Amino acid sequence: MQSQLRQLPSVDKLLQTDQLAPLTAIHGRALVVEAIRGELDQARRRIMAGEPAQSLDSLAEAALTRLSVEARPSLQPVINATGVIIHTNLGRALLSRRAQQAMQQAASAYSNLEYNLEAGDRGSRYAHAADLLCRLTGAEAAVVVNNNAGAVILTLTALARDKEVIISRSQLVEIGGGFRIPDIMAQSGARLVEVGTTNRTYLRDYEQAVDPDRTGLLLSVHHSNYQITGFTAQPTLAELAELARRCHLPLMEDLGSGTLLDTLPFGLAHEPTIQESLVAGVDLITASGDKLLGGPQAGLILGKAALIEQLKKHPLIRALRVDKITLAALQATLLAYLEGKATTEIPVWRMISTDITTLARRAQKWRRALLNIPQLAHLPLQVIESASTVGGGSLPGQTLPTRALALAVSSIDALAAQLRQSDPPIITRIDNERLLLDPRTVLPEQDKTLISALKHTLTNYEL
Ligand SMILES: *Cc1c(COP(=O)(O)O)cnc(C)c1O
Repeated sequence: MQSQLRQLPSVDKLLQTDQLAPLTAIHGRALVVEAIRGELDQARRRIMAGEPAQSLDSLAEAALTRLSVEARPSLQPVINATGVIIHTNLGRALLSRRAQQAMQQAASAYSNLEYNLEAGDRGSRYAHAADLLCRLTGAEAAVVVNNNAGAVILTLTALARDKEVIISRSQLVEIGGGFRIPDIMAQSGARLVEVGTTNRTYLRDYEQAVDPDRTGLLLSVHHSNYQITGFTAQPTLAELAELARRCHLPLMEDLGSGTLLDTLPFGLAHEPTIQESLVAGVDLITASGDKLLGGPQAGLILGKAALIEQLKKHPLIRALRVDKITLAALQATLLAYLEGKATTEIPVWRMISTDITTLARRAQKWRRALLNIPQLAHLPLQVIESASTVGGGSLPGQTLPTRALALAVSSIDALAAQLRQSDPPIITRIDNERLLLDPRTVLPEQDKTLISALKHTLTNYEL
């Protein structure tokens, strides 16, 4: 064992190998040495366990692999072949080219983020996307914070701390990722007053719960990710707004996805728009920037100027402050709407509106490319009818017809796992014991990378 240990090469010797020598210039000496030490430690443990010493060559290879993993940021691009457009686990909305360019600019040069160019003194970062949001929606005022969960906490804290907030029992939602209305309410210091029943709530339920001293606001929360069907009742937003006005209380709505475009013309159910809620008389709306809006992660708050002013003065807004790069991306995204180019520029809408012929053509193209590889010519690959979803807690139960490339092999889960390990990782959907690749969420410019990663994985895989 001692002689085996003595046979292990020194760090310096490994540093001079063909594999590792060029890497000190790329990753710096310290990282390469760290990877070598890690491998040598492991080699020592193996020898202690009775295994023979590894060769210089195999140690260098192992250090190379370790370095390539350790020097790579853990956040990395993946190919989303799931057909779920706003996939929260995969980063929600992709940004338009215009938004990407705006982010690049905001990152690389100073800006008037909080500087008033006319007066030459301090300005407000909250001015930036607000005008665009107002122009697009007709809102009196708007403010943007870090995300929608933050927007809801800020609004409830600033407007209803130590007060009662009245909400229908059917809207005590959990969005996922730890966002549950009752918990958010408790966190804000507001007291939850639930009215009605799970399936039916009437205007009079709200009315009876209003107390002139205790009530802080009426809250409506959009059923983002579930449906209540059958024997149901819920007053309209306009009815609630009328009640709120009569009681001199604000009506707040957490709209969740917060779309500016009607989803109906895209073959989907109608998802309530921000504009509709404002017209109905909602005083404050909160929505996400990175769901159907198709922009960066952000929490949009729109509504009455006096209420927005109250939010801007609350100390919590500092903790939820939106970043300059986010503001740049959001402005660019909103401009596309203003110019009527949302469906051609914004990836979420481009994916929603991709027609079935295009999808079928791409799935066929992938199929042919794979079958043209001699080792894969025997694969049971088919283009099948399937369904994509919008995701992001919007349009529950709604699907978009698609064409997917389907692979029917026996060990589907193992193959899906293998594809997740490919470079770049490919995330697929499993349906009916078939592995599906949905072209709707794969960018056309990713086709080449997808095919080569698929080819690599499938040729090295025992099907
Ligand atoms: C998604 C969603 C949230 C949370 O928004 P984030 O942008 O993820 O913070 C809150 N409320 C509703 C109704 C939602 O759909």
